[in-house]
Amino acid sequence: MAQQLKKENEHCAICGCLLNRKGKYAAPTVQGRAHATKHHFVAERFFGRSANRKGNVRSRLFEKCPWGLEGEYEVFCYECHEILLHNPVFTREDIAAFAKLARRKQLDEPEKTKSCEKLAMRVQLLHQVIERGIKTLMNEV
Ligand SMILES: [Zn+2]
Repeated sequence: MAQQLKKENEHCAICGCLLNRKGKYAAPTVQGRAHATKHHFVAERFFGRSANRKGNVRSRLFEKCPWGLEGEYEVFCYECHEILLHNPVFTREDIAAFAKLARRKQLDEPEKTKSCEKLAMRVQLLHQVIERGIKTLMNEV
């Protein structure tokens, strides 16, 4: 069940800032930077939907959500959602290493087929990288 959008003293799920719901979304001000915005844990497009282009149906990447989070979301500030979550940094070395990992797991596709199964597996592999990276870093602090 999706959580309610409006709460008293609502805070960003990442940075913990007090969220603003009084306008000025994305303005270069404290109010704009702290504006509330929801983000799906697993992109809607993976389930054949598009939040930005309603009515534009894609094929489902996942028949069943591997994480059991289809349609679920969290609320963040503008900065954590639009700047942090939508723009992860991958260096050239990161990409080369991930490509090598994908090849080792036979998830590369020198020739595309009609199947999106390997893409779905690469999505899950990238999530494993994030999950394990967080666990590793948590053990260091
Ligand atoms: Zn935040």
